[in-house]
Amino acid sequence: MRSNYCGELNETFVGQQVELCGWVHRRRDHGGVIFLDVRDREGLAQVVFDPDTVEAFALAETVRNEFVVKVTGLVRPRPEGTSNSGLGTGAIEVLGKQLEILNAAATPPFQLDEHASVGEDIRLRYRYVDLRRPEMAERLRFRSKVTNTVRNFFDDNGFIDVETPLLTKATPEGARDYLVPSRTHPSRFFALPQSPQLFKQILMAAGMDRYYQIAKCFRDEDLRADRQPEFTQIDVETSFMDEEQIMTTMEGMISGVFKKHLGVELGEFPRMPFSEAMNRYGSDKPDLRIDLELVDIAELMKDVDFKVFSGPANDADSRVVALRVPGGAEISRKSIDEYTKYVSIYGARGLAWVKVNDRAAGLEGLQSPILKFMPDVVVEALLAKLGAETGDIIFFGADKAKVVNEAIGALRIKVAEDLGLVKDCWAPLWVVDFPMFETNSEGNLTSLHHPFTAPACSVSELKNSPATALSRAYDMVLNGTELGGGSIRINKPEMQQSVFEVLGIGEEEAQEKFGFLLDALSYGCPPHGGIAFGLDRLIMLMTGATSIRDVIAFPKTQSAACPLTEAPGEVSTKQLRELNIRLREQPKPEADA
Ligand code: ASP
Repeated sequence: MRSNYCGELNETFVGQQVELCGWVHRRRDHGGVIFLDVRDREGLAQVVFDPDTVEAFALAETVRNEFVVKVTGLVRPRPEGTSNSGLGTGAIEVLGKQLEILNAAATPPFQLDEHASVGEDIRLRYRYVDLRRPEMAERLRFRSKVTNTVRNFFDDNGFIDVETPLLTKATPEGARDYLVPSRTHPSRFFALPQSPQLFKQILMAAGMDRYYQIAKCFRDEDLRADRQPEFTQIDVETSFMDEEQIMTTMEGMISGVFKKHLGVELGEFPRMPFSEAMNRYGSDKPDLRIDLELVDIAELMKDVDFKVFSGPANDADSRVVALRVPGGAEISRKSIDEYTKYVSIYGARGLAWVKVNDRAAGLEGLQSPILKFMPDVVVEALLAKLGAETGDIIFFGADKAKVVNEAIGALRIKVAEDLGLVKDCWAPLWVVDFPMFETNSEGNLTSLHHPFTAPACSVSELKNSPATALSRAYDMVLNGTELGGGSIRINKPEMQQSVFEVLGIGEEEAQEKFGFLLDALSYGCPPHGGIAFGLDRLIMLMTGATSIRDVIAFPKTQSAACPLTEAPGEVSTKQLRELNIRLREQPKPEADA
């Protein structure tokens, strides 16, 4: 039907007859001639119809934006002074000879260049229009190129692409499951996989040695800005490789992708223990583009009268930290109030600060609402410890360690962004030596990663002191975003049982839920480990998109719905009956107050 893409035309085509197919981007009537900008996946071409070509000209008058057309015409240089250097095809135009309307279009719900002024719901509902925007199309194309590079990497390195089931049994990764009722087994449900974790381990038991898959995963959790209920992972598992070998191999994969598609050398990935990341950055995914660090000052604050500091300073579960921000003395009272509100989201009950207006002037050069509560020697020791300089502001966090880490960790990033202290670079690292477990709000131990992660200790050490056990897990972090995470796995039934025990999963429950895994471990399962990368997030970072939804063709909204298809939808009583499901009556929506 077509000889060329619109966007590929340039001066080398001058004199050639071409057949273009695409959408009418814009029509302009100009002193007796009609211009159609015809757009396809590759770009725009300007087509001119003049009244000599009577039939085509008459038809051109009738077309509207987003009509689908076929144009036959002659490529010629644009007249002197009318070329458009901002457009790939800007030096030429096509003199239209024939025009065919392949399909008319209703007035589009929004003009392509006005997408920003319509709500995202409208963009998602008319996704086919939204995806016609070059920016969106380019992201999907970029994504396709990256996955191609990823596949080639794994292929070149002896990995086998294996598909694992979507209708399966629950695989815990810390979220709720999406359930699918079984018609053939009344009262029973499949779960959509939160990850292919158990299958990829079983593939190792099966001797597959190296597996990868670009896999859909499903997690029914309360959605935060950059989460999707279904998302894509680059999922990997290997046998007979230790964590160092797996990390090095994966660095190779990610570095190769950055080099090929962004021309960026990521260099070496430093390794940082989890405890260090938390202490210095308040986060297990530190953004190393920012130099600011949390400094523990509990030792200095143990005996001060200021209870807000001395209380946490004397409590083992708490932290007292200072965050020195060069240039921060300029921050206004109003902004400090805003930061105070910001840290309160993370549970901080206030935000103490000191401005260093003139370091040479000693205590006189300081400005702060809290200094009066502290002996001068403590203040001096504090300034010395932090290396404070004129122009700094120092923020403080004093509370339970979790609150301080989250609040001051987040403040570190926010202030750095506001003051332009985020370096323009890529800063990757591996975070290692994670704890095996964390304590949840009910005081119970839960897995920090998942229950199949191998501890870095023996069964008896694990049983004796589970709360202090470290795991053999590793996370790859880039610019403050967790790109991927994985671990060496448990490959012996006894250790797996012990971990289940610590998690309060009794033998019977373990057998019922994971009996098939325990069996697989007992029939000759090699030492193995792996990792999974969030593909959507990787593409988002690489393209500089601000929302994960902008790198997914058909994403869900934040309330986990699809405005295009209106899923989730109702089903008929017949279907429900086949599934042996009766719906509970929904509570009536409350009358508007
Ligand atoms: N299954 C893990 C996840 O989805 C990744 C891994 O351990 O390989 O987070």
